[in-house]
Amino acid sequence: MKLHAIRYRLRNDFQLAVMTLFAAIALLGITPGTVLRAINGQRLPFAVDFTIQAGILGSILHMWLSGDTRRASLFLAYFLGVMATIAVHILGAAGEFWFYPAMVANFFLVDRRHALAIALAGLTALLLTGTVDRPPTEAAAFFISVIVCALLTYTFSYRTAMQRKQLETLASHDELTGIFNRRTLVDELDRAQLTFERDHHRCGILMLDIDHFKQINDRYGHLAGDKVLIELASLLERNVRKNDRVFRYGGEEFVVLALLPNHDGLVSVAEKLRGRVEQGIHGPDGRPITISLGGAILRPGESIEAWFARADTSLYVAKNSGRNRAVVDPDN
Ligand code: GH3
Ligand code: MG
Ligand code: MG
Repeated sequence: MKLHAIRYRLRNDFQLAVMTLFAAIALLGITPGTVLRAINGQRLPFAVDFTIQAGILGSILHMWLSGDTRRASLFLAYFLGVMATIAVHILGAAGEFWFYPAMVANFFLVDRRHALAIALAGLTALLLTGTVDRPPTEAAAFFISVIVCALLTYTFSYRTAMQRKQLETLASHDELTGIFNRRTLVDELDRAQLTFERDHHRCGILMLDIDHFKQINDRYGHLAGDKVLIELASLLERNVRKNDRVFRYGGEEFVVLALLPNHDGLVSVAEKLRGRVEQGIHGPDGRPITISLGGAILRPGESIEAWFARADTSLYVAKNSGRNRAVVDPDN
């Protein structure tokens, strides 16, 4: 694998990057102990360390070679849970110290519920086998501190997941209308093109622009204009099929991405939306708000830019032929 390919995968697969970093830290941390045990002839502790290292190395290699990050992480988390428990049994105090990082690491590897379950299962096994051979107060301190550590990490992981979700929503949605934004549109267009090339599912776009929208802002203020945008976004979402997507492209322009086999299908979607907007959206003066639409069906081998440009030209034609109209490029 070339260096730039490695860098690409590390940048684009967060879980793989975390696993690789984790493996590097774990291997560096454990190796000195393994070497010492080999030198001192401590066979059993050496075998434990060696097995842990082999497990970590094996799952990380599997992840790199197969790309199956999820299964390799799950295996590694359960493997570490079992090995950390065995380490306490065989290494005594040294094993107890390693129990903490092993349990915390699991929260980076797998879903927090799995990680918590592994920590609790490990502790239960230690408790039932009476492995922590210490005075009661020390043993209690061990069990309770591991539980506290796992619960704190669980809470931290929960908070991080919530924040990531919020960030994803912020990055992919339009603030005013709550629908998908232009950034998501770019991703979805790429995906539509790939699906077309792979499965031959045809796809159409409609570009929509509110007619004389500036007048609404000028006469009734920006807030009135914003209200129209919100209502329009909601109406569009309610009137497209489940697999179709609506995006705010910018300003008072929207894009609908629809799975459709041909020109006529896109014309009927465009006409339906045009009619629904005319009937359903009114300005502050009670007059109907209208939109113009331009559409194009993706052609075989066509670039996204060219596809988009055809829809844009159709919109321009719709505007120039009187507005409140839908024009779909017949070329498909
Ligand atoms: P046309 O029929 O040719 O499309 O005329 P138009 O007035 O709609 O076209 P134009 O592109 O000149 O005006 C678009 C207006 O949209 C200008 C801008 O003030 C307004 N606009 C853009 N973004 C927003 C927004 O987020 N909120 C509000 N209220 N207005 C916006
Ligand atoms: Mg415009
Ligand atoms: Mg406009």
